[in-house]
Amino acid sequence: MSKLKVISEKSLTNNSRIVGLLAQLEKINNESTDSDTARYVTSKILHLAQSQEKTRREMTAKGSTGIEVLLSTLENTKDLQTMLNILNILVELISAGGGRRASFLVAKGSSQILLQLLTNASKESPPHEELMVQIHSVLAKIGPKDKKFGVKARINGALNITLSLVKQNLQNHRLVLPCLQLLRVYSANSVNSVSLGKNGVVELMFKIIGPFSKKNSGLMKVALDTLAALLKSKTNARRAVDRGYVQVLLTIYVDWHRHDNRHRNMLIRKGILQSLKSVTNIKLGRKAFIDANGMKILYNTSQECLAVRTLDPLVNTSSLIMRKCFPKNRLPLPTIKSSFHFPLPVIPVTGPVAQLYNLPPEVDDVVDESDDNDDIDLEAENEIENEDDPDQNFKNDDIETDINKLKPQQVPGRTIEELKMYEHLFPELVDDFQDYDLISKEPKPFVFEGKVCGPIIVPTAGEDASGSSGNLRKGIVMKEKVSPKGDEGDKKPVSMDVAKESVKANDGPSQQQLVDQNRTVSSAHGLNGDLVKALDRITLQSAPSQTAPGVSAETKKECTLPLSVLSCARACPNMAACGSVLFEGRAVQLGKLCCTGVETEDDEDTESNSSVEQASVEVPDGPTLHDPDLYIEIVKNTKSVPEYSEVAYPDYFGHIPPPFKEPILERPYGVQRTKIAQDIERLIHQSDIIDRVVYDLDSPNYIIPEEGDILKFNSKFESGNLRKVIQIRKNEYDLILNSDINSNHYHQWFYFEVSGMRPGAAYRFNIINCEKSNSQFNYGMQPLMYSVQEALNARPWWIRVGTDICYYKNHFSRSSVAAGGQKGKSYYTITFTVSFPHKDDVCYFAYHYPYTYSTLQMHLQKLESAHNPQQIYFRKDVLCETLSGNSCPLVTITAMPESNYYEHICQFRNRPYVFLSARVHPGETNASWVMKGTLEYLMSNSPTAQSLRESYIFKIVPMLNPDGVINGNHRCSLSGEDLNRQWQSPNPDLHPTIYHAKGLLQYLAAVKRLPLVYCDYHGHSRKKNVFMYGCSIKETVWHTNENATSCDVVEDIGYRTLPKILSHIAPAFCMSSCSFVVEKSKESTARVVVWREIGVQRSYTMESTLCGCDQGKYKGLQIGTRELEEMGAKFCVGLLRLKRLTSPLEYNLPSSLLDFESDLIESSCKVTSSVCLCFGCSPTTYVLDEDEPRFLEEVDYSAESNDDLDIELAENAGDYEPATQEEALSDSELSRTYLP
Ligand SMILES: [Zn+2]
Repeated sequence: MSKLKVISEKSLTNNSRIVGLLAQLEKINNESTDSDTARYVTSKILHLAQSQEKTRREMTAKGSTGIEVLLSTLENTKDLQTMLNILNILVELISAGGGRRASFLVAKGSSQILLQLLTNASKESPPHEELMVQIHSVLAKIGPKDKKFGVKARINGALNITLSLVKQNLQNHRLVLPCLQLLRVYSANSVNSVSLGKNGVVELMFKIIGPFSKKNSGLMKVALDTLAALLKSKTNARRAVDRGYVQVLLTIYVDWHRHDNRHRNMLIRKGILQSLKSVTNIKLGRKAFIDANGMKILYNTSQECLAVRTLDPLVNTSSLIMRKCFPKNRLPLPTIKSSFHFPLPVIPVTGPVAQLYNLPPEVDDVVDESDDNDDIDLEAENEIENEDDPDQNFKNDDIETDINKLKPQQVPGRTIEELKMYEHLFPELVDDFQDYDLISKEPKPFVFEGKVCGPIIVPTAGEDASGSSGNLRKGIVMKEKVSPKGDEGDKKPVSMDVAKESVKANDGPSQQQLVDQNRTVSSAHGLNGDLVKALDRITLQSAPSQTAPGVSAETKKECTLPLSVLSCARACPNMAACGSVLFEGRAVQLGKLCCTGVETEDDEDTESNSSVEQASVEVPDGPTLHDPDLYIEIVKNTKSVPEYSEVAYPDYFGHIPPPFKEPILERPYGVQRTKIAQDIERLIHQSDIIDRVVYDLDSPNYIIPEEGDILKFNSKFESGNLRKVIQIRKNEYDLILNSDINSNHYHQWFYFEVSGMRPGAAYRFNIINCEKSNSQFNYGMQPLMYSVQEALNARPWWIRVGTDICYYKNHFSRSSVAAGGQKGKSYYTITFTVSFPHKDDVCYFAYHYPYTYSTLQMHLQKLESAHNPQQIYFRKDVLCETLSGNSCPLVTITAMPESNYYEHICQFRNRPYVFLSARVHPGETNASWVMKGTLEYLMSNSPTAQSLRESYIFKIVPMLNPDGVINGNHRCSLSGEDLNRQWQSPNPDLHPTIYHAKGLLQYLAAVKRLPLVYCDYHGHSRKKNVFMYGCSIKETVWHTNENATSCDVVEDIGYRTLPKILSHIAPAFCMSSCSFVVEKSKESTARVVVWREIGVQRSYTMESTLCGCDQGKYKGLQIGTRELEEMGAKFCVGLLRLKRLTSPLEYNLPSSLLDFESDLIESSCKVTSSVCLCFGCSPTTYVLDEDEPRFLEEVDYSAESNDDLDIELAENAGDYEPATQEEALSDSELSRTYLP
């Protein structure tokens, strides 16, 4: 580089030849001497320009006036040869220099001068051919670089000059070629395009393009490019349709496809497809395409192209056209409203729910009445000038710009008197602990206090409850439905119909008896014969061989679940094998199950439970939170809208993280187009389509055809979501999800059961009514599967499964009622292919690791029963009842005071509060797993946890939306609204959990006990890693680029400390994904309201990925419950560190207890200073909804847009952004894992 510079400077100082010539030319211009000299000088310049790159460079160098001199000569000269010389020089310059030099010419005003020259030249009759060729050549090159070129050309009358030149010289290819090139440039402007169309340009192009020919392929190519550009105008497209050109294009395409055997004319074939693509943007075009058998033609040709990789652009463009023309289908549903009904106590006056209720029942909400709005704007097209793109500067209008809205504001909330109702939820503030035994070490025995009601069936595989006898899959069946209203209010345990044979004699079992019955009977009878046999086999054999190699070592280390709870009525002799070896002390529930299973099968002998003791000894401390029997008991108290009477096996057995890593899936090449081709085949080979409904919530009496080889589906259990299933081909099913209750959309969460599979066969599942425009399923995320057989084989876990996963827009039209009023939208399909490992298995699929409300209640009870009351202050209160009458738990955790002496009580009461909540969005089950990690950590015996409890009082609402969770909603509560948009003014009748959670915070504010931290746990469906959203005035204002009053605001940057700490200690956490911007659309979320209205400075949303991590220790892996729970625990550790940073004076704990002391001070400095620096350069990431890069197949084929999105990028190129780690993590494990 520097060498070039030296040379060019040198040549300038040496007064180079070209400089001299240009000076000479300038002189000629000024003196208007004879044309001979000008001709001579320009030919010399041309010669130099043709032969020397140095000359071309000098002429277009910054500061050079050479171009001005040439252009002014061109303007003034009357001499043809001089003009040609100059035009030739310009051609030389641009041809060699690419776009930069063309832009340079534009900047010097060349387009106007050349257009003027064109007009003048056209006045001669006939116009000088060579001159025209040259003018057109230069204009075609510089036009695209001139934003105003379209308008300039039209004003100068250039459009028709070029057009008539072509018309009159069709056989003169040397002249026609640059003219066509220029027409292509003109027609980038829609007004020009329409105007050219009126003058017959479309017909003209069809005179040039034609069937396969080895001659003039260059001309053909340009003509097709021009045509494709012209047909983007709807007027022109309609003209083409009217003249039957769609058929012509298809015929020409097939001809080239047949004859172009060596694929030398790929660009011509692509050009034909591009023209078809343009013309099918209008409805008439799509109809003409279908009528001309276009689907079949393009399908067949593209199938033939598949083998040749270089023809990919043809396959992709064909696919795009076919998707666009694919007739829109109606979603096969009677209504898109949820199949479940829940009458609301109050109907909101406005909003989506009001709309839903106001819709007359007879209105078909599945499709729009008509979508004939397609060509409406045809007339208006002339008015629209599309060339001058408005400034593309990114400006997000969702960012709050009103500084007053950003400042904390004391909204007159409820009065102290009104808030008194929450006093009883804060006994820790008044208790004097006089009646507590604060010294005793005796742990409280576990007492189960759950109530019993409602019928329970341990799961089935899609058969109705009264199904055929003999099949034990029925499991625990409770015949009686929930006791009718007339019954005693206090629900008594209802006799369970488990194993009619064995229980029948037992007319009125006491609750204890019932529980015992359960223990011995339920598990065995919950399984079908095969399962029990399998079970038998396992438990009778000694198991080590069945444990996957390498599992045990790791398992042992990670195992935290003791067998101590194992309380089998009668232990079987195989206990040691199944308990301690098979399950490694982890799967207590299975140990018990397998034990009892054997027992019921063949009652051999029952001795020596010493082995049980032994098993429990080996297990590290910590409570086991899963207990199948307790789960069943709790489920009976859970009130669901559909009145579920079944329990899904995974919830019954529990889940433990698998011992292997689950990498983010690599996207196979061309998966989308393969799937789409299969979808298109539905239309082309209609006779192959079975189209048989095999599951339907809307017609509960629907009889599933009793044919072999049909999968059975079921979703009638807590958190289940699957509305309808249609068998498409032998091993392919379309699945439809249910809307949230009192809503007509939010389809994302799914959880359902499948049985009746043939092992080894590959089944394709398509969930066809997804709504989001993109999904992590396109970026390596897999759905989850749970196999009951596997669970019985000591692998009770959800695993990531599925291949050929792809998420794409499909051909089912989406009613404007459910698409925010927008017409012409489509649904999206998530497709995945699975094969099942076992025969006679019952498998479950879920969007993410399920975590039901009953699971939460079970976990809380187990935590309560296992805790040491001398050490831990634990309370479980009811915050309020939900709309359907479930209680919303509120948990208080802190350390017991050391004694009831004044100072200890004082220290106890003065601990700052930390307020946590989770699962306001039911589909974000990961939030519950993070919360489980937090709760378990807070209740653990580790010294750090004890320090933490001594430092804070934790108020936790672990599930803000129990009803939504229970009923399988994705986003809303039973009110059909997103509860995380109700925090500004929650309605006590419609949003009780939000109303009262806010009430608690208002109470704390009123008694001057504002929490130090508020955090609401969420899950994020479109990003990787774990990260936080916080609130900052400065960072918000900075983002709007309004430097205005931001400087006046004094803001403590403390809100950054906790995320910063977490990025150091939590491997899944990623600081660079955090954002502290306040968006308008989020103004009624917990985070923003607790910050602005309640005044908690550290108010956060913590988002955990549903997919996986692209940085840190877990880079390249999908996230599992272990990582999520770890995040919850690390969050607690982070709080302890925050405590040190916020109140160093209280630093009085022995440092040996903590694992991060060494860098404490250092990192506190770092946190502060890096934030300070940040304000100068890059304060925060404003996080858009999606941050995944595009990839090849992400193509929009929708008719509603003209977007040219079929960008041919290398597939998966840059699928993952490089991790932008803010600073090197101190985590030593990081380097250990990733350094070679
Ligand atoms: Zn959420």
